[in-house]
Amino acid sequence: MTARDRTFFELLDENDELAGFREEFDLPDGLVFLNGNSLGAPPKSTWHRLSRVVRQEWRHDMNAAWWTHGWLDLPTAVGDRIGQLIGAAPGQVVVGESTSVNLFKLLCGALRVHAGSGRERQTILTDTNNFPSDLYIADGITQHVHPAARVRRVDIESIPDALDDDVAVVMLSHVDYRTGKILPMSEINKRAHAVGSLVLWDLSHSVGVVPLALDADDADLAVGCGYKYLNGGPGAPGYMYVSARLLPDMQQPITGWLGHADPFAFEADYRPAPGIGRLTTGCPPLLSLAALDEGISLTAKADPVLVRAKSSALTELFIELASERLTPYGADVLSPRAQAQRGGHVTLRHRAARGLIERLGTEGFMAELRVPNLLRIGLSPLFVRFVDVWDSVAALERILAGALEDTAGDQQ
Ligand SMILES: *Cc1c(COP(=O)(O)O)cnc(C)c1O
Repeated sequence: MTARDRTFFELLDENDELAGFREEFDLPDGLVFLNGNSLGAPPKSTWHRLSRVVRQEWRHDMNAAWWTHGWLDLPTAVGDRIGQLIGAAPGQVVVGESTSVNLFKLLCGALRVHAGSGRERQTILTDTNNFPSDLYIADGITQHVHPAARVRRVDIESIPDALDDDVAVVMLSHVDYRTGKILPMSEINKRAHAVGSLVLWDLSHSVGVVPLALDADDADLAVGCGYKYLNGGPGAPGYMYVSARLLPDMQQPITGWLGHADPFAFEADYRPAPGIGRLTTGCPPLLSLAALDEGISLTAKADPVLVRAKSSALTELFIELASERLTPYGADVLSPRAQAQRGGHVTLRHRAARGLIERLGTEGFMAELRVPNLLRIGLSPLFVRFVDVWDSVAALERILAGALEDTAGDQQ
């Protein structure tokens, strides 16, 4: 690598077309926040929006606000705004419960789509290293809801070979929560469709940072998280995508009144709403939904091409510096070197990861431990600066070098 210094990174910040977005977030002074892929930062506008919803909409209109302020339609309205970020035409995305519960609904729906076609398929095929909650949800379905169904976990490389005519649905994370590796969505959809299987994508670590084109990639189903790169706030509800071609056959098991075709007719029996609203269940968490809407609106203002370019540059530079300056201390880069295969975070592996994260914290850098030995560095392009990359690698180098000296001292 050519010799670089902090000035080079300052220059990148000066020329960064997205630099202005940092001002839109309410970040504490002196903190280098490298954890936005786990819980995003609060947009300044969120506070104003919440205040407006409570002090004007709720206080003034009370129950009528469900209609007068469009609260009832907010899950689908915000869904359509997410649709714009993931390449989905309107009417295919809705905000629901947590990602885990949304996944439960869509997995059950996927098993049922096949049953409806008269060809029973019983396998949920997934990656052994998928996000644990996703694996737990799938297992829970086979234990509590569909005893005939089974979950088959294989290594990600073996997914294509494991596709057979018993696979109802392949459940995968688009970007791996540990390594940050991106899977080829279009290619996997094609291979699964060739044997008649559906694919359900978890977009939690992709949306807002990695380009997505669900309609163009012929996707079937997807879920995703609202509180990571979308900055929707702690516990923000997640969303569900159902392709328009599947929607008429898609039903879900938590059949509550707001997913009914006519909720306010209070009919004795359930009839699913005709559109994507059939995926919903009860009253939406309005305050959280309003906060999510603010996070999404902010993300939507950024040119996705610039977002991806900056994100790629941040991860590239972090990997370059880490390889040069941290590898000698036993830290290796777990994330893909190939830019096209890499999402928005970089993961380092070091045997003393826990201690490193703690020391980083005391020096004003917030990153995340993934037990036992992984350091996850989230480089959210809307508020992380290029100098943050330089400074965080420099801090890690200092800590690692100091730790060696300490050990040497102990031995004397
Ligand atoms: C963060 C994350 C979730 C979030 O699940 P919740 O149920 O909303 O807490 C789900 N899946 C993946 C892959 C995630 O990274």
